Amino acid sequence: MTITSFHPTPRTLMGPGPSDVSPRVLSALGRPTIGHLDPEFIGMMDEVKELLKYAFQTTNEFTIAVSAPGSAGMETCFVNLVEPGEKVIVCVNGVFGSRMVENVERLGGIAVVVEDQWGHPVDCDKVTAAFKANPDAKFLAFVHAETSTGALSDAKTLCQIARDNDALSIVDAVTSLGGVELRVDDWGIDAIYSGSQKCLSCVPGISPVSFGPRAVAKLEQRDSKVQSWFLDQTLVMGYWSGKGKRSYHHTAPVNSLYALHESLLMLQQEGLENAWARHAKQHQALKAGLTELGIEFIVDEAYRLPQLNTVKIPAGVDDAAVRATLLNEFNLEIGAGLGVLAGKAWRIGLMGYAARSENVALCLAALKSALK
Ligand SMILES: *Cc1c(COP(=O)(O)O)cnc(C)c1O
Repeated sequence: MTITSFHPTPRTLMGPGPSDVSPRVLSALGRPTIGHLDPEFIGMMDEVKELLKYAFQTTNEFTIAVSAPGSAGMETCFVNLVEPGEKVIVCVNGVFGSRMVENVERLGGIAVVVEDQWGHPVDCDKVTAAFKANPDAKFLAFVHAETSTGALSDAKTLCQIARDNDALSIVDAVTSLGGVELRVDDWGIDAIYSGSQKCLSCVPGISPVSFGPRAVAKLEQRDSKVQSWFLDQTLVMGYWSGKGKRSYHHTAPVNSLYALHESLLMLQQEGLENAWARHAKQHQALKAGLTELGIEFIVDEAYRLPQLNTVKIPAGVDDAAVRATLLNEFNLEIGAGLGVLAGKAWRIGLMGYAARSENVALCLAALKSALK
């Protein structure tokens, strides 16, 4: 077997992530690799922190990019904040809420699960009732934008409920950051994580994380060591801190951070609110076209995500065959249904750089052709 260089066929990525990466970000990725303790690189890391604070709408000093994908951002929040024996109210309305339960249980925490139907948001009344039944709960964890179903939950109200009950909030913003309104400081979010490859349209493998003052205090007051050496933020802080000399913790993904810097800069140049409006506008255009094709949405309009459109596969249509046609004939990727929605739904992403008119037009034309 002769192995040659790998040249992937360019695709249009309209699934649940990774999303389309812009030429600007790809070109940043190819710039010369320099040392991760090079003063120039450290200066760029400081800018990444500033740009992340803007994206999250926070002044949290502890705002960094974990050198690993969104799942590691999730694990970073749980492993640093939750100590064995502590109770966490975890909202489950899709795949990622279930992963949060796994995180809590694996580190010896007690998960109190509040379940909601797939395709529905987290029910705030159920969360209030869970706190009444569990006054000793120290955390509330939920997914802001459930990528497995396309439902948006009311993060502002949920974080207020956590505060009213003296609990810290842990929020999954992997799909929401950059795509829909998210205000870490105004909403009183204590710990939040995201991912690089959804609405930030960067390459996969980096997870922005931010801890507010209450989360940092909890971390500093821990009795036990954080189980994970790599994710222990008391050690990572020295690596990302702007003051004094940086110490070696691990080798940052140097070029991927150039890419993140560029994608965050693009977001800042566009303006966060303009980016939210663009996602909403392209969602409306996609919705109009899908309706013409007779394709229905699964999630109610009141809490539907613009960046992740979950639609019913029309009766009699071969799910795999249509997706294969889209990929092979149109170089277009859309997402399959996950979990209870497998075989029943498609997930059409309009994330970040993918939320553009030409993508919407391509997707509608390709679906029309594939459905014939
Ligand atoms: C994609 C996603 C994750 C996991 O991110 P990875 O980068 O795949 O590890 C977590 N939560 C949500 C809501 C996601 O959409």
